[in-house]
Amino acid sequence: MRVWEREITAVILLLLISVIVGGITGHIILLIFLLMLGIIIVQFAQITRFEKWIRGGGRGKYPKTKGIWEDIYYHIYRIKKSEKRRKKKLRNIIDQFRQSTEALPNAVVILGPHDEIDWANKAARDVFGLKTSDKGQRIPNLIRFPEFNRYLRSRNYKESVVLPSPVDNRVSLEVKVISYGAGLRLLMAQDITQFKKMELMRKDFVANVSHELRTPLTVLKGYIETLQDMDDGHSPLLTNSFIQMQGQTERMQHLVDDLLLLARLETQQKKTTCVNVPSLLTQICNESDTLGKLKNRIQLTLESPANIVGEEQELRSAFTNLVSNALKYSKEDSTVKVRWYEDTYFVVLAVEDNGEGIAKADIPRITERFYRVETKRQRKVNGTGLGLAIVKHVLMRHDAHLNISSELFVGSCFSCHFPIKRICN
Ligand code: ADP
Repeated sequence: MRVWEREITAVILLLLISVIVGGITGHIILLIFLLMLGIIIVQFAQITRFEKWIRGGGRGKYPKTKGIWEDIYYHIYRIKKSEKRRKKKLRNIIDQFRQSTEALPNAVVILGPHDEIDWANKAARDVFGLKTSDKGQRIPNLIRFPEFNRYLRSRNYKESVVLPSPVDNRVSLEVKVISYGAGLRLLMAQDITQFKKMELMRKDFVANVSHELRTPLTVLKGYIETLQDMDDGHSPLLTNSFIQMQGQTERMQHLVDDLLLLARLETQQKKTTCVNVPSLLTQICNESDTLGKLKNRIQLTLESPANIVGEEQELRSAFTNLVSNALKYSKEDSTVKVRWYEDTYFVVLAVEDNGEGIAKADIPRITERFYRVETKRQRKVNGTGLGLAIVKHVLMRHDAHLNISSELFVGSCFSCHFPIKRICN
């Protein structure tokens, strides 16, 4: 029999007894009334005891009782116990997480919705100079770098930002924010001092080697030209050797020039003026057109008169590379279309050819240094593999980006997108 069935049976039994006794004594109503009153008083006392127990947090063993109330106490006690076990488990997980993040070599700070510090690990306290008592403080008040504040406010955390450590400015930190949960953010910082040093060493090394190679190459080229002038053409082997030597020194000179330009792009401060792009493009297209065997291959359309803020020499290099690539990697009698136009957000230079195109898998890689697509025809085309790396760097320095769309054996379109805010008079 279930507990509530037992309770009802007991009440019915008591009622029966009251009716019988009431029948004998002649006080049925009074006895039933007294029985009901008794039941209500007992239940009321139970409710009061229960409320007191619950109000006290339901801690410890529940009060001794019988019947349905014992069942109620028991079930609540069981729920509370399993809740306690679950809480303990969760606390252990949180503790483990905190201990492991505390031991991380990277700095981790948990930020609240108003940029306030919720929690920071040891590395974060060390590199940002935070104290345990800084909990609840807004992080922009403690890390006072304009670029960091701008980054935090932007709410666009796709990229990271590089800052000096507020404790030691020789230490460079790469800071990234990751959003999670409802309005919570994780700020992570990694010490990239060593990486930056190596990067600087690599840049210096390439720049120095390229610079040092320049003079011997010029001397070599000079001697080859003198020897070519002296060649009377009697020995085809010699004549051919001179042509080969001249070709290779020129190739090396291009390589050195491109490497030096890349090194300059990576290290030099930006010097900007208002560049007359339509005039620059006209010059580049005229110069490039006269270089080929067949002239008038380039079709220049200037749909926008926009000039942009930038560095003329850098833009000249980037645009020349795109135009000469389009000429190089398409048939000698095909047309290359160069378009300068504006759309809603960008002013665009598009260089389109009907050349051999680029395979989908190669497109993301062709802007890497020294990456060249090795098709049969392209092996014969001279190049350094640095042209598009230069284009990418120049565009980055102009807040612009490069779009490449291409289809094998159909053609390619390289477009440089400059933000409208760069337009100047
Ligand atoms: P390169 O000196 O080899 O031209 P780039 O960096 O300018 O170096 O170009 C890298 C590679 O991208 C080239 O080797 C070529 O395979 C491919 N490429 C560049 N432009 C085009 C184009 N317009 N059509 C087809 N392939 C191209």
